[in-house]
Amino acid sequence: MSSQEVWTTLKLLAWTKDYLLSKGVVNARLEAEWLLCAATGLDRVGLYLQYDKPLIDAELAAYRLLVARRAKREPLQHILGSQEFCGIDYDVSPDVLIPRYDTEVLILEALNRSSCAQTVLDIGTGSGCIAVSMQKRLANAVVTATDISEAALAVARRNAVKAGAAVEFLFGALFEPVVGRRFDLIVSNPPYIPTADIDMLDQEVRDYDPMIALDGGLDGLDIYRELIPAAVDYLNPRGWLLVEVGIGQAKDVTSMFQSAGKFTETIIALDPGGIQRVVGAQLKELS
Ligand code: GLN
Repeated sequence: MSSQEVWTTLKLLAWTKDYLLSKGVVNARLEAEWLLCAATGLDRVGLYLQYDKPLIDAELAAYRLLVARRAKREPLQHILGSQEFCGIDYDVSPDVLIPRYDTEVLILEALNRSSCAQTVLDIGTGSGCIAVSMQKRLANAVVTATDISEAALAVARRNAVKAGAAVEFLFGALFEPVVGRRFDLIVSNPPYIPTADIDMLDQEVRDYDPMIALDGGLDGLDIYRELIPAAVDYLNPRGWLLVEVGIGQAKDVTSMFQSAGKFTETIIALDPGGIQRVVGAQLKELS
């Protein structure tokens, strides 16, 4: 992008598409459009209404900085500052895992299985997207969310306020902050990537998502080993526990539910890519 040339919107987008593709960004054209929207303050329709208009120097300078960041594979969501999840925009930062569309399956399953929950607990809330989504859909429920990162909780609190969702956020590991309480529904998207696989993740994930939100220990299952048996003491009779799992983990996680000895038969739900993504079960009537 040399400064002497006249850069119109269309010319700029074409150039950026090739440049970002060469850096390994797959959705290069669309992302170029989002970055140009951020630099100009226009929406995508606005861009196309003036596709042959040259950009002013200040816009070009701002755009150059954004493209340089994306070329280093910084996630688009960090550059733009937000990600949509279940119809709500969430602020994101390097302190929280960027919400994934796969996790929407967890919300749907939780709502299908436990539509009358009065008390909901989200463990490891990160951006707060699960807790906020649950609160918006179960308006009468008291929703509590925990995290071991104060920095993540700060982002989550902000997101709840922005979305107008009353969520109780508590600092601490697993059930520590809610000792003595019981819930109708417990949900969690814990870190589940096996440590050795982290190197193979996309650069955007490996270098920019928080490691404590990804690393699930040697086989990725560390948190489930603690969470599933412990949940028995924090669920009301007939309460549901639903967890997101990584690729190929549903079988092992199902066994953990069974070994806990207090759950009914487990359910498994697939994500839009056909991967077994959610495992859950209901606590038996008499625990
Ligand atoms: N789904 C995320 C990924 O594969 C990982 C999230 C997690 O560990 N809970 O990038």
